[in-house]
Parts: sequence; C-alpha cells; structure tokens
Amino acid sequence: MQNDTIVAISTPSGRSGIGVIRLSGQNAKSIAFGVTGKKLQVKVPKLCSIKDENKQTIDEAIVVLYQAPKSYTGDDLIEIQCHGNPVILNEVMSLCCKRGARPANPGEFTERAFRNGKMTLEKAEAVADLINSQSLRAVKSAQRSLSGSFSTRVNQISAQLKNSLVELEAAIDFSDETENYFESSLNEQIKNQRKALKKLITVAKNGNKLSMGLQVVLAGKPNVGKSSLLNIISSSNRAIVNQQPGTTRDTIEVSIEIKGNPIKLIDTAGIREDADEIEREGIARTKDAIHFSDVVLFVVDNQRDLNNYQNLLSKLELTKYESKIFLILNKIDRLKDRIDILRTQQNFTGVSAMTGDGVESLMEKIGSILIAEDEAETEFMARSRHIVALECALEELSNISSSLPFANPELLSEHYKSSIKYLSRITGEYCTEDLLGDIFSKFCIGK
Ligand code: GDP
Repeated sequence: MQNDTIVAISTPSGRSGIGVIRLSGQNAKSIAFGVTGKKLQVKVPKLCSIKDENKQTIDEAIVVLYQAPKSYTGDDLIEIQCHGNPVILNEVMSLCCKRGARPANPGEFTERAFRNGKMTLEKAEAVADLINSQSLRAVKSAQRSLSGSFSTRVNQISAQLKNSLVELEAAIDFSDETENYFESSLNEQIKNQRKALKKLITVAKNGNKLSMGLQVVLAGKPNVGKSSLLNIISSSNRAIVNQQPGTTRDTIEVSIEIKGNPIKLIDTAGIREDADEIEREGIARTKDAIHFSDVVLFVVDNQRDLNNYQNLLSKLELTKYESKIFLILNKIDRLKDRIDILRTQQNFTGVSAMTGDGVESLMEKIGSILIAEDEAETEFMARSRHIVALECALEELSNISSSLPFANPELLSEHYKSSIKYLSRITGEYCTEDLLGDIFSKFCIGK
C-alpha cells in the first residue's frame, strides 16, 4: 500500500449530472470517514452528506469503498459521486486535502495500479489509449490490448527466447555433445523466432497507426480551396478542429472518422514555386506533413493544372510521393458544361467545396484506400516505444543468426539476453523511472 493518499476529480471539468472524486492510499478510509461521518462497507454504495469543517452540508453523495488489493489501484480506493458542479467537486477535494490527501499527478492512479502489480505497463498504456480513442475501432483495439492480447504475444515470444537461452547455455557447458546444435537446432529456432517477431512488428505497426490516426493531407497551390474542403468535410463529420500555433499560415488539423477509423485531416500552407521567405517556412511544414502522411489529397482548381498535373508535381518537388497522391479537381461548380467530359477521366475526383458536390464520394474513396490497406490486422493498440523495443529485440536475434554457426557461444547468449530484455521493456518488467514518468505524465488527472 502506498504511504500517501492521493485525490483527484476524475470526471471532466464543467457541469454535469454527476462528478466523481477518487481517493486512494493508506488513509483513504479515514479521510472519507472525516468528510462523510459514515463507515463504509466494501463495494456497498452509501448515500452520505459531505460536510465542511463547520458541519455545513456541501453535497449529498454516493460513496463507494473498494478495499485493497481488490481495487483499480491495488490500494484502498474510494469513489465519491457528487453532483457535477466544479465548485462542489473542488470543495470536496479540498476537504480531503485538509484531512491529509494530496492532489494526484496525471495518471497516478494507474501508475499505482502498475506499481502494485495490478497491470503491466503496456496495459496501463492501453488504459490511456482507451480514454483517448477517437473511433469505435480504436476503442476495440485498446480493449484487446487491455485484456492482454498484446502482452500474450510478447510473452509467448519471450518464453521461446528464454527456452533457447537455456538450451544455448547448456550447449556451452556440454560443448562436446552438441556438435549439431549450432548448425541446425539453434539456427532453426532463431529463424522461427525472427519470423514471429517480424509478424508482431507488422501487427504492432498497424495498431500504432490506429492509435495515432491515419493522416490525410490536403495540399496544392494557394487558393485552390483546401481550407474550404477541410471545412465542408469537417462540418459534416463532427470534427475536432485544432489550429496549430506558429507561422502566419500554418497547418490546421481536424480529427474525423471514416468507417469507424480515426483520421487526421490536415490542411497545409499552399505550395508555390516562387514563394517568399515567410511562405517558405509554411511550405517546409507542408512537405513534412506530406512525407508523414498516409494519403495526400492534391487539389487543383482548373483544367490546365489538371492536365499538367505531373508537371506541377515535379515543379513542386512532390513526384516522389506520387503513389499516395490522390488528385482532386475542386470548384467543379464553375465547370458545369465540361464536367461530364472531365468525369470520364478516371484519375481524379471532381468536387465542389462550395456546393458539396462530390465530397461524399471523395470520402468514400479515401475510406476504401485507407481501410483496405489497414484492415489487414489491427489486433491491438501499440505505441512507437513498443515498436522500437520489438525492432531492437529483432536486431539482437539477427545478430545471432548472422554469426552462426561459428560464433562465440557466450556472445550469442548475450544477444539472447538483450533481446529478452527489450521485450520486457514493453510489459514494464524492465524499465526505468524516466520511462515511467514519461508514460504516466501523458495521462489525464484522475486516471
Ligand atoms: P486555400 O488557400 O487552398 O485554402 O483556398 P480557400 O479554401 O481559402 O479558397 C480560396 C477561394 O476559392 C475562396 O474565395 C473560396 O471561397 C473559393 N472556393 C473554394 N472552393 C470553391 C468551390 O468549390 N467553388 C468555387 N466557386 N469557389 C471555391
């Protein structure tokens, strides 16, 4: 049990039907008794009057005790369900603090759960991913991580590596009897283990894409209608709009959902060849966004640019991204007479950000590209640090296989140990305080 008792408002700020305060740690029960005057039974909700130091009632609340170790944190945990008014919630929190609790840091309840062995590190991360998920598909993946689907795969590979390590060390000790071991048996094991790791890396990368959101970038010359397209797509999509701070004309990002997949749609500064100093900074950012995107919607607004699109790409130095570029002709409302002819050309999509014509079918097309590509396997959420750890573990195995059959066995065993250590970083068996600080600081307060 942790010595100090932490408290936080676990529901979002603002007014709501109820607001929940969480209290966890050694003195949670006595602090709750101090503010409610009632003894709590385990997991039995109790209606209590919350009173201040002058015995004035602040609120009537439902209070529930989850006793250690059968609680979310593994310590005594009390949830106080008040009316959802920030003034009430802040007062209740301050009453708890006056009785010895301290305000919790972001993610501290989950951090305690991890430290008390209630969950592995990647499950703790899945809790944050679940809260931050922006689509049903992401929610389901985070749930699978939380229920252990990722750690099971990591643990299976880790167990195989540990078995091989035991065999390898035995082979070192009884070197006379193991002539074939390095040439065939170990070689075969390494081959299978590398294959399993590569497969897991692919799945983890898909999961990582899902948690980060697929990136779709709107690019093109200035005034072709990129912002107008972003507006019309986002207003029909209940988007969350983020204006990135920075230069005069910077990227704007909205989070939308297509077929249950979270997508970040990014509007960028227009690119032109004769850009001035200020524009060049914006263009560099645009090119960065294009580089890291999954799909680029390259917008033109006239027939000349449409016909010379290849030329335009090369002038704007975008040819290398052609495979992920989707050509959009905007402002088709101005081309009424010719649009039927244009529509017979298959390599672009005609839209009008002004009238909304073609926008829905554009979204469907993007959906079919991204989702076809991504549907493959997204079994669980994964973070960049997991992928790095898996890749490092793979590299250690590759070092073994490239040095077989004549390698120094002690060196091989070191590579095996490092590989196992990298895998244990994912579950948190082996990790530094810095890493823990970094992970939990990104949680919300109260979780
Ligand atoms: P951006 O610089 O590429 O982001 O372009 P904007 O979205 O700011 O649009 C530039 C101009 O084109 C504005 O005056 C818009 O009203 C206009 N515009 C954008 N989309 C359309 C469209 O589909 N049809 C017509 N006629 N005008 C449009």
